[in-house]
Amino acid sequence: MSGTSGAVPARRAVIDLDAFRHNVRTLSELAKPAETMLAVKADAYGHGMVPLARAALESGASSLAVLDIPAALALREAGITAPIFAWMHDPDALFGEAAEADIDLGISAVWQLDAIAAARASVAPRVHLKIDTGLSRNGATEADWPALVTAALEHDRAGAVRLHAAWSHLADASPDDDGLALAKLRRAVEVAEGLGARFEKLHLAASSAGIRMPEARLDMVRFGIAAYGVSPFDDQTARDLGLRPVMTLTAPVASVKRVPAGHGVSYGFAYRTEGETTLALVPLGYADGIPRIASGRASVWIGGRRHPVAGRIAMDQFVVDVGDHPVEPGDEVVVFGEGDHGEPTAEEWAGFADTIGDEIVARIGARVERVHVEGASGGGGR
Ligand SMILES: *Cc1c(COP(=O)(O)O)cnc(C)c1O
Repeated sequence: MSGTSGAVPARRAVIDLDAFRHNVRTLSELAKPAETMLAVKADAYGHGMVPLARAALESGASSLAVLDIPAALALREAGITAPIFAWMHDPDALFGEAAEADIDLGISAVWQLDAIAAARASVAPRVHLKIDTGLSRNGATEADWPALVTAALEHDRAGAVRLHAAWSHLADASPDDDGLALAKLRRAVEVAEGLGARFEKLHLAASSAGIRMPEARLDMVRFGIAAYGVSPFDDQTARDLGLRPVMTLTAPVASVKRVPAGHGVSYGFAYRTEGETTLALVPLGYADGIPRIASGRASVWIGGRRHPVAGRIAMDQFVVDVGDHPVEPGDEVVVFGEGDHGEPTAEEWAGFADTIGDEIVARIGARVERVHVEGASGGGGR
């Protein structure tokens, strides 16, 4: 998707690679001596997978996490040679291709090990056995764990896999719940060792526990959202944590008009102008990931100040009441950004939309061009 055809408004998500590198450095220093695996799943939370993967590896991450094998193979095709971990597999998953490409596989069930063996690849992939410590997504239950470990040991002996790690994922429910999950992981490791397994690595924490629960860092932290400059916490912003928002969402004003008092705006006339005012049209809507539920609550940055979103956010556009401020077609609208100047952040949009900042950035749609920038503060760019 390129926004360069002249007729297409330049909806842009500007991705600040310097900010991202700063965050990865900050988090990987914090986690040490634990290693940092950087989650670039879901197209790097909407930021663009390949450039963010490269930047992560340049800045302190030693490996990458994606959801599934196709994403891992795309990273390999882009020339990335670092370890890549993928953990969501269905029965038709490309286990043979994954093995040939030396992808680390998260394994939750015996049938996955059997499918890897059946693929008869020339490389035995490293496997990370997952125990469900309470989140109830994938991962073996306590009851199924010994059978999973036994099968992994058999396939390891037969040369089909290399048993590498044991891992789980936290529910971030409460410190007590997360402490219990850590204890369950440790117990599962004891059970596995009793069966003869030896793990080179244990991993559990993502951003939240990686920052606040040092005992959960183990050998490796799988950082995600914090590296994109969005806080995993309700009570601290990214800025409070010394992290910088990475994505700035902008679009040009598409049109402006002067209207009288009492003028209805957008579907359902949920908004009426209080007095004579100027309305500015912004070419972004819920098809681009702007949450419709934020109608009537959100504000955006135009011409050096905040202005309220007026009326319902539509599929492709929303209207902003800019009062008597001079706004022209083509003026830049910052929907969210770093927040330094007073523009909203993705975290604030999460508040406007009763969600988390992760959802705000990850849902920015395909019509929005991703523009990766670096060296903006005098470093000379690429
Ligand atoms: C998404 C994800 C992460 C990263 O989580 P954040 O909360 O974004 O840091 C780590 N591990 C797994 C298994 C994940 O699905």
